[in-house]
Amino acid sequence: MKEKLDHKNLPDKDGFFGEYGGQLIPEHLIKVMNEINDAYVEIKDSNKFQDELNYLYKYYVGRPSPIYHARRLSEAYGGAQIYLKREDLNHTGAHKINHCLGEALLAKFMKKKKVIAETGAGQHGVALATACALLGLECEIHMGEVDIKKEHPNVVKMKILGARVLPVSRGTATLKDAVDSAFEELLKDPQNFFYAIGSVVGPHPFPMMVRDFQSIVGREARAQFLEMTGKLPDYAIACIGGGSNAMGLFTAFLHDLDVKLIGVEPAGLGLHTNDHAATLTKGSKGSIHGFKCYVLQDEKGEPLPVYSIASGLDYPGVGPQHCLLKDIKRAEYVSCTDDECLDMFMQLSRLEGIIPALESSHAVAYAAKLAGTLGKDVNILVNLSGRGDKDADFVAKKLKIH
Ligand SMILES: *Cc1c(COP(=O)(O)O)cnc(C)c1O
Repeated sequence: MKEKLDHKNLPDKDGFFGEYGGQLIPEHLIKVMNEINDAYVEIKDSNKFQDELNYLYKYYVGRPSPIYHARRLSEAYGGAQIYLKREDLNHTGAHKINHCLGEALLAKFMKKKKVIAETGAGQHGVALATACALLGLECEIHMGEVDIKKEHPNVVKMKILGARVLPVSRGTATLKDAVDSAFEELLKDPQNFFYAIGSVVGPHPFPMMVRDFQSIVGREARAQFLEMTGKLPDYAIACIGGGSNAMGLFTAFLHDLDVKLIGVEPAGLGLHTNDHAATLTKGSKGSIHGFKCYVLQDEKGEPLPVYSIASGLDYPGVGPQHCLLKDIKRAEYVSCTDDECLDMFMQLSRLEGIIPALESSHAVAYAAKLAGTLGKDVNILVNLSGRGDKDADFVAKKLKIH
């Protein structure tokens, strides 16, 4: 089963990855999503769309992002070699610009009037506001008030870029609530609005589309790694919020069964507490925001409040393809705590001169811990999904760096 599964045929025509994904939404929204799917299928392989997207990736984003052998970090742990895929070097500082440009191009192609989105850490919001400014589209970003306070620089950036930022105060005033709010806005005029979902989540076709746009990361990384070392990495590791940077990295390696794929979830204050967002590790099958996946939920199926020091990771659901990869054991899902993340934030800064996003620090922290248990001839490729400029003030306060 594991060997025979052709991941290239996923999702099926109804948007399912095994039993996960789909379109658990009202009839009239299914119609809207199917229109997006049809438009996407129509243009995705056209030269016009691909040429424009690749042009922007190269000359606007600065792709390909390099792979960097983190020698001092590897030495510090005394084991395997750690390589970083530098998505932090992209324009806007993270991987999210990869799918935002794709989504905004699609919205423009469909002649949509307004692009709506949710944001957690503000990275998706900034990336989308950037893409909308570039393509001349109206942009409205829904963001939890807690995140607005924590990620102030990104809020200001979105406004400078011409986007409207809508504060969301309901619930825990974080990512999940922002998604709810953005969905409600979409329902007001689904013909003219385009909801640019910020990860490989939501109803079909978004998990597929966002994965396709992010898969540039793994395609580049696979070729670069072969060129640098003459072989494929032994491990490919990425952090998991909704799962887009991880799917972006994993997709190119799905059929390379010798490459172990590891997703790192946020364990927050610890898996034994309620303050984490380790959905694949601790969740159960359910649904959220229009698709089936593992969910951190109560007995009634209501999503639980989740927490992580990294705003971009605190989501109680997770991309449907990750759920399948977990079940068939093609990928393994582990977690790192806030403390481990903070520790790596400082270590990577001081050993390599790279300030990582708190989200990405989770992946590097797990990779370093794993590296210490492996031989020097083993290679670990980590997706450094974003840079930590946005987190510097927050960390400084937390660690009392004046
Ligand atoms: C948003 C974000 C993430 C988490 O989102 P995924 O969809 O899981 O990739 C990870 N890293 C950074 C830097 C982010 O901005």
